[in-house]
Amino acid sequence: MTDVFPNYIGGSWRTGAATIEDINPSDLSDVVGHYAQASGSDVADAVAAAEAGAEVWGRTGLEQRATALDAIGRELMGRSAELGELLSREEGKPRAEGVGEVYRAGQFFTYYAAEVIRLQGDKAESVRPEIEVDVSREPIGVVAVISPWNFPTATAAWKIAPALAFGNAVIWKPANLTPASAWALTEIISRQNLPAGAFNLLMGSGSAVGQPLIEARSVNAVSFTGSLDVGRGVAAAAASNLTKVQLEMGSKNALVVMEDADLDVAVTCAVAGGYSGTGQKCTASSRLVVHRTVHDAFVEKLVAALGAMKVGHALEDGVTMGPVASEAQLASNMRYLDLAKQEGCEIACGGERLERVTEGYFMSPALLTGSSNTMRVNREEVFGPIAAVIEVGDYEEALSVTNDTEFGLTAGIITSSLARATHFRRNARTGCVMVNLPTAGTDYHVPFGGRKNSSYGPREQGRYAAEFYTQVKTAYIRAGNPEI
Ligand code: NDP
Repeated sequence: MTDVFPNYIGGSWRTGAATIEDINPSDLSDVVGHYAQASGSDVADAVAAAEAGAEVWGRTGLEQRATALDAIGRELMGRSAELGELLSREEGKPRAEGVGEVYRAGQFFTYYAAEVIRLQGDKAESVRPEIEVDVSREPIGVVAVISPWNFPTATAAWKIAPALAFGNAVIWKPANLTPASAWALTEIISRQNLPAGAFNLLMGSGSAVGQPLIEARSVNAVSFTGSLDVGRGVAAAAASNLTKVQLEMGSKNALVVMEDADLDVAVTCAVAGGYSGTGQKCTASSRLVVHRTVHDAFVEKLVAALGAMKVGHALEDGVTMGPVASEAQLASNMRYLDLAKQEGCEIACGGERLERVTEGYFMSPALLTGSSNTMRVNREEVFGPIAAVIEVGDYEEALSVTNDTEFGLTAGIITSSLARATHFRRNARTGCVMVNLPTAGTDYHVPFGGRKNSSYGPREQGRYAAEFYTQVKTAYIRAGNPEI
């Protein structure tokens, strides 16, 4: 009998309607584990449990909440080597990236452990005499967290930590591709002193579990990270119930390389921004907007750097790029490469399926040249180790290409000109801007999010997260007659 990792509902572990196998994308013969799939009644029970849990947790003292969050964060950081290995085994990012992600997830919890006791309201005099006004923040109630597979622990952490910090109950529906990381984090949370129902895990597919969850009337808020198409559906479902919603979706981030750039810095940023995590990042610099005068030199250096990347099993020493996370994602990457060729791009390097000792979804990092910003490969999110170079004649054109997209998460510029960097920082129509840094890689104590079709609703992370995970109450108080 195979052990099945169960769901967590109302403070109890519960096997589901079915199970799935979690397969290692670096080695398809390696089954990471078997994970329960929630049934319709599990979803209903989790929602009811979360309603009850929210009542208790929302009234729990700040210190108790802070202590629980701090313990979760410290355990994640302390076990980052072990849990990072598990993450890399099921998702495919190199071990160092997996360990770094788990450590970062821990930092989200310890950061919000401190934020709990920093939450303050406002006090005002009324415009009417003898009346005081008190503005305070209260929990929203039940929060559904829906997270993607590419950052299975960190993305969930930056939602779960503030949700719990500000007194809400959480129902977490992680991506079905990465249940092991979700289960490991849940197991840590289950050992804290939280009331039953304050935290619930529902593993299962988006259609079978995510959809009924976001449609549940008792869910008060939905925080979602994933693709644009699914995000639109989540927003529509939330709107029909007038549920508060926050969406973080895809992007088509540009990294501009100007003629005055340090090309070594530019190449380092292009590799880190475009190919770490096998390019499966919403912040990936998939469009490289390069000034004509440095185009050839930049491409030559980048091709050499990509050729030096070691593609292989995520847990093998020295590997700098792991496999693509799934067969479907690999097939999609290959379709985009074919499309790019049909559209007139040249493949300067990479884009081949690779064989390794173990059977896995390996491909070489690809660089496209001769691309234009109107090509589909530059308009749609590929979500793979594929970046396309767009040659431009001057800074104005570079900025215009950067902004000519339906997305707006991050943008970067490599330049030694302070004036240009400043102008770019002010005029890039994105939520995050990087100067002489990769477009991927952000801190945990400041807001994260995008513009246009990359984000919808209040910002995530830092103290800005309070906007989404709390609701404001304005109280008017007339002190009675002191002589009565
Ligand atoms: P998906 O949109 O396919 O899925 C995201 C989550 O939504 C998964 O848990 C998925 O479940 C769930 N889901 C799918 N359908 C529904 C539905 N009908 N109702 C409710 N939930 C549903 O994205 P991926 O998991 O493929 O992740 C990659 C995407 O995430 C990329 O587009 C990327 O840009 C984006 N992303 C954005 C970030 C940002 O902050 N802007 C950060 C990281 C990633 P399941 O797949 O298990 O069925």
